[in-house]
Amino acid sequence: MAPKPLPPRLPETDLTRHRRLRDQGSLERAELEAILDAGFVCHLGVVVEGRPLVVPTVYGRDERELYLHGSVASRSLAGDLPVCVTVTHIDGLVLARSVFEHGVNYRSAMIHGIARKVTDPEEKLEGLRRLTEHATPGQWSYARRPNRKELAATTLLALSLEEASVKIRSGAPDDGDGPDAELGLWAGVLPLTSVWGEPVADPALPSGTAVPGHIARRAGTRHA
Ligand SMILES: Cc1cc2nc3c(=O)[nH]c(=O)nc-3n(C[C@H](O)[C@H](O)[C@H](O)COP(=O)(O)OP(=O)(O)OC[C@H]3O[C@@H](n4cnc5c(N)ncnc54)[C@H](O)[C@@H]3O)c2cc1C
Repeated sequence: MAPKPLPPRLPETDLTRHRRLRDQGSLERAELEAILDAGFVCHLGVVVEGRPLVVPTVYGRDERELYLHGSVASRSLAGDLPVCVTVTHIDGLVLARSVFEHGVNYRSAMIHGIARKVTDPEEKLEGLRRLTEHATPGQWSYARRPNRKELAATTLLALSLEEASVKIRSGAPDDGDGPDAELGLWAGVLPLTSVWGEPVADPALPSGTAVPGHIARRAGTRHA
């Protein structure tokens, strides 16, 4: 039987309840999914030997879980540990009249849970497919897939998307209607966009090797 889909509203738990800047919070799961799909790098926070470790790493997902992978030697990927994963997109700098009101326009997500080590070989391969396709759609069927030895050297963690939170800031600075508006200073937003560039061929390639369409097509587009 197929598992039940996760509820469309994010749960407000002791971990996910926003305590500050609550107006920037969203409880829409669709917003969480949009943030996850707009990126492919997260920060994995985990306590290792009593100290916090925050590791940048790539991810993929399905409807229920986030997938993270790495070397079997990675201490941050031990599994069965409480973790906190964040994904952040910067949309611009908010330049206010006062330094105090300066800020960032952003979309961010935080996922809390106990990461599970995936051991079933088929599930592991499917998780790795999701991860590869999340960063580069089309690449799983183009590139050589992992062999048995490579699979054995790879840890795959799955983290439920159940307990997660979202925060989004957009728009102008907040001091346009305060006393600082009289200062006569420029204020506004300096937008920031990340766009894929033209593919750069490996110099080791035989000349004339064509760039596959699924890669060439991305030049000039944003990740989504
Ligand atoms: C690019 C960027 C820059 C920022 N710069 C600053 C800054 O300079 N100073 C500052 O005070 N704040 C900044 N923030 C906001 C910051 O991330 C926190 O939301 C805020 O500081 C509240 O922190 P807290 O510890 O009081 O969180 P709490 O409100 O106590 O957090 C409770 C729960 O809310 C959720 N939550 C909190 N923050 C986020 C988030 N960003 N995204 C998703 N879920 C979240 C989590 O589930 C968390 O466990 C920035 C955010 C981004 C994305």
